[in-house]
Amino acid sequence: MSTSGILSRRGLFRTLACGCVAAGLGVRMGVAPALAADPKAKTTLSSDEALARLKTGNEAFVKGASCVVVGGVERIAALAGGQAPFAVVVTCSDSRTSPELLFDASLGELFVVRVAGNTVDQTALGSIEYGVAVLGAPLVLVLGHSGCGAVEAAVKMVTERAEYPGAIATMVEPILPAVLKAQTQPGDLLSNAIATNVRLVLGAIGNGSAMVTEAKKAGKVRLVGGVYDLSSGVVDFQA
Ligand SMILES: [Zn+2]
Repeated sequence: MSTSGILSRRGLFRTLACGCVAAGLGVRMGVAPALAADPKAKTTLSSDEALARLKTGNEAFVKGASCVVVGGVERIAALAGGQAPFAVVVTCSDSRTSPELLFDASLGELFVVRVAGNTVDQTALGSIEYGVAVLGAPLVLVLGHSGCGAVEAAVKMVTERAEYPGAIATMVEPILPAVLKAQTQPGDLLSNAIATNVRLVLGAIGNGSAMVTEAKKAGKVRLVGGVYDLSSGVVDFQA
């Protein structure tokens, strides 16, 4: 039996054992893009399939029916030769927003760019381009979250003229445009700023990267936003 055969059978056992089939998440069976026989092969998932995979993963997380078991030297070794992530996830450093947990994903499945406030500078943009153009990820998700301390700091910088020591101000400044825009919107300023920040970061990726824009035009990648609710565990995806 091939290595991939062994792994896929184990994946099936894992799926059956954890109850995902009973939870209606059987769609994930057989979807193991990071475990391709050729470790350098890219994921075979389309953009829409990748997004669906994130949604079913989040549903499993919320239900307490996560399937992923990360460990095992055979699985680790199988990934040593290469990676084939099906999504790039740009998210906050907040310790409650680990994307692999939120989306029931394993090693090799998500290419993660994390900085407090989920903003994107040139280094992050380069990481996104690498994930899309080199690793072949068909989806980029920018994920904000409720109660984000970085966005809250930006709100206080605008509304209270708060000042921050060290490099924290530098971290907060890219979020300021979202706060200023949110001030013109009805409703809760922090929530609006969090959602607006996601949209602005998506725009910044599109405007800042010709590589991503070309891949998008060619139908090779899709950019989506989302906000994770710390209380419910649910990710609200923005179209
Ligand atoms: Zn945050």
